[in-house]
Amino acid sequence: MGQGVLSTGFTRVDGVLYCEGVSLELIASEVGTPVYVYSAETIRDRYRRLDRILSPVPHRIHYTLKANSSRGVLAVLKDLGAGVDVVSGGELQRALLAGFAPSDIIFGGVGKTRRELAAALDAGILLINAESEAEIRLIDALAGEREIRAPVSIRVNPEITLDAPHDYIKTGGKGHKFGVPFDDAVHVAEVAAGLNHVDLVGLDMHLGSQLSRIDPYREGTERLASIFAELTKRGIDSLRYLDIGGGLGVRYDTEQPPDLQRFAAAILPTVTATGLQLIMEPGRFIVGNAGALVGRVLYRKHSGGKDYVIVDTGMTELLRPSHYGAFHRISAMRDRGDARQVDVVGPVCESGDFLALDRELDDVQPGDYIVVADTGAYGYVMASNYNSRLRPAEVMVDGDRFAVITARESLADLTRLEVDAPEWHVAAATIDGGGR
Ligand SMILES: *Cc1c(COP(=O)(O)O)cnc(C)c1O
Repeated sequence: MGQGVLSTGFTRVDGVLYCEGVSLELIASEVGTPVYVYSAETIRDRYRRLDRILSPVPHRIHYTLKANSSRGVLAVLKDLGAGVDVVSGGELQRALLAGFAPSDIIFGGVGKTRRELAAALDAGILLINAESEAEIRLIDALAGEREIRAPVSIRVNPEITLDAPHDYIKTGGKGHKFGVPFDDAVHVAEVAAGLNHVDLVGLDMHLGSQLSRIDPYREGTERLASIFAELTKRGIDSLRYLDIGGGLGVRYDTEQPPDLQRFAAAILPTVTATGLQLIMEPGRFIVGNAGALVGRVLYRKHSGGKDYVIVDTGMTELLRPSHYGAFHRISAMRDRGDARQVDVVGPVCESGDFLALDRELDDVQPGDYIVVADTGAYGYVMASNYNSRLRPAEVMVDGDRFAVITARESLADLTRLEVDAPEWHVAAATIDGGGR
């Protein structure tokens, strides 16, 4: 594959792939493989594009940590003035460590624990996106203990049928576990507004991920606006935010990501009519095209009429191909000509451990580097230690400079939490004898 541009921020210069002004070969040889490489300028470009398109209305962009929560990535976004959206106590901790002001943090997720909610209240974050009446009542109780009022938005399930490329990334359809069912939303909002220690500050939705159509955003925004209108009619006037979630798609192959002008035209009039401040929670859109995973060819093999390229990275570093059936372009670091149809597979003892099946790839040889494109989102964050593999390093490139932002895991890290001499506790016998 000798194309000039692999992805935004990644180009081929004199036959070798670069991230901005730095050769990926240089990074791979200095840092080793597998390694994730990110383009800071691509992240900035995506953030600014979204910021610009939303500029006709008062708005806040809360980058969703779960797409890529490395501190080095967060630092780039923080410098741009972004807020963040977290879905766990761990992500809240990461956001605070990265220096985000609590007032720039929102907290969502279907299964927040008491401890996580308490941490969010103690930190004093902008708002909690609550997903059920029971959760709102728990927040009320926790806020009561603290003698404060908790800012709460209600995540509504807009119940819109979607065209996301995989069922696992649809979240806003009828019957999904996320959010308050559309028909219950007004009731739950009234309950929230009536609680002593809750400030009902907004309405929220998140349709799903890798969305290419604009209509669901239009419909969902209108549905949230209709709930807002009903609440206003009932005398509830505390709302300030209308949060339409994340989900904007990016290009991995031949997809047509949503046109931002049309996207804005579809949602902004409805938002303007409400007079509320718009919140968006983009993840993939900001970082998806900003990263590449560099690996190295270990072996070539022919088996059962198939041609395999066995590389030093696979599902443990990039789960998306095997988990979602996702497509990522793969290129040889250096032009090798003579393309072959191959399966690019990893070293993990699973047949599902592949990066690409039946793919045209340059005739790479053992020792050659390969580059898996558009892996900035849901890449490193989903990496695991399965097969006791070490999680890879992460590198940020900014212009002609690069820095390791996450060190490669070590063998010592791997067993760090295992107890040398387990301390056995004898369980007390129960009434019926207990022991079986
Ligand atoms: C995952 C998630 C997002 C971000 O989704 P992207 O598709 O990466 O933009 C936003 N909001 C919520 C609640 C999420 O769970």
